[in-house]
Amino acid sequence: MSVVVRFAPSPTGPLHIGGVRTALFNYLYVRQQGGRFILRIEDTDRTRFVPGAEEYIIEALNWLGIAFDEDVNQGGPVGPYRQSDRSAQGLYRQYADQLIEEGKAYLAFDTPAELDAMRERLKEAGSSTQQYNALTRHEMTNSLTLSAQEVQNKIDAGEAYVVRMKMPENENVSFKDVVREEVTFNTNQLDDKILLKSDGLPTYHLANIVDDHLMEVTHVIRGEEWLSSTPLHVLLYRAFDWTPPTFVHLPLILNPNGKGKMSKRQGDKLGFSVFPTNWTNAEGEVSTGYREDGYLPEAMMNFLALLGWNPGDEEEVMDEARLTERFSLERIGNKGATFDIDKLKWFNQTYIRAKSPADLLPLIAPYWSEAGYNLQVDESYLHQIIALLQERVTLLPDFVDQAAYFFAAPTEYDAKFAKKRWKAHSGELMLAMKAKFEQVSNWNAEELHQCFESLIAEREIGAGQVLAPFRLLLTGLSSGPGAFDIAALLGADETYRRIELAIASLG
Ligand code: GLU
Repeated sequence: MSVVVRFAPSPTGPLHIGGVRTALFNYLYVRQQGGRFILRIEDTDRTRFVPGAEEYIIEALNWLGIAFDEDVNQGGPVGPYRQSDRSAQGLYRQYADQLIEEGKAYLAFDTPAELDAMRERLKEAGSSTQQYNALTRHEMTNSLTLSAQEVQNKIDAGEAYVVRMKMPENENVSFKDVVREEVTFNTNQLDDKILLKSDGLPTYHLANIVDDHLMEVTHVIRGEEWLSSTPLHVLLYRAFDWTPPTFVHLPLILNPNGKGKMSKRQGDKLGFSVFPTNWTNAEGEVSTGYREDGYLPEAMMNFLALLGWNPGDEEEVMDEARLTERFSLERIGNKGATFDIDKLKWFNQTYIRAKSPADLLPLIAPYWSEAGYNLQVDESYLHQIIALLQERVTLLPDFVDQAAYFFAAPTEYDAKFAKKRWKAHSGELMLAMKAKFEQVSNWNAEELHQCFESLIAEREIGAGQVLAPFRLLLTGLSSGPGAFDIAALLGADETYRRIELAIASLG
């Protein structure tokens, strides 16, 4: 049987990093096994619906390189792929009706006030739970306590009702999860959960399992927060006489300090969504976004793959092909995975270094344009800038500050460094070096370096006395790539001009 997995986000806001991880694990698994990957939009909770969220989710996953075989845009054999569209076809109601006919679900007309009163009564009687279930349903207003005629009268009168699942009384039910031991629960702990709401729309539970069944999903790979819903889902599969899929619940993603779920993040500023948005997170902060922060999708993918999964050895840097090869459900851990932003930065650095300057240029160019750098120059000049800097940056925007002096002479010099390293004789030394530069036959880093060697030998001075002021006049900074590499790239005229500018300014 070929594998079918799905990613089933609710369009309630930007894609949280945990959701991206879930999508990725599904993706790696299905690419490895061969099969179909479905994107299903679970939008039946209209109170939490956020316009634009669906497009955001798709765009964010595209950016990461996660592609679906079937979704709202491409369609496919088991569509529609949006639950509101499926609901409009009467699909969920039909299944709710089936359960009602079979005596496995019932209509409940209780008003919110009646439900409150029931809970109050139970509390006063000292009951530890205040559930609508086998213990209480007989005292409520539902199709189990009313006659068929009374039910019909209420429906005809337009009274609001929900459809509830009739939980079996005091039964132990077990299910297997790939990541954990067998899970057993007693049905008395469960509520007669609502399957169809008074607005006629299904709850998450009904829609989710009906769709997983109709879409022939073989593996449900999702976050641990859904584990507590799984007993109900297992009972629904049983009620319909359907075979449940294999369940894989991914461990929680923890804050960097190892305490608490990522969504309730504290401490370090972590972009919680992939792109910046106007949406706020639970703490009321507006998201920054990993893409704009300058993370590469490959780095993000590699990092996320290791949040809750590991290959069982030391291998860490794995591109999509390698991850697909090595991924396994069996090696998903059941302990919370700590989100370590420094590790993500390390991956980013690693992937930036591994790319060719030509591949990096289109990624960096937007940042440079925004900074006002003139990019109407020979492309090989831009490539060479990138080659000099790529070993030294962590995030794409680091290329902005570090490359500034390749596009314009410094207008100010690092004051602390200048005070320490630009001495009274520095100007004269720079002119002496310039005189040597004027003799070289080829303007390249090696020949310029030889000029410097001969100068310090003649003068019997330390290298720093020449190197520090030379770097300062070229870049305005105290550190960076090799000063002769920079001068070689800037060219003779520009190097001489910067020598003059620095002498005019620093003496
Ligand atoms: N709509 C649910 C969510 O937003 C899907 C959970 C599941 O995968 O079953 O995460």
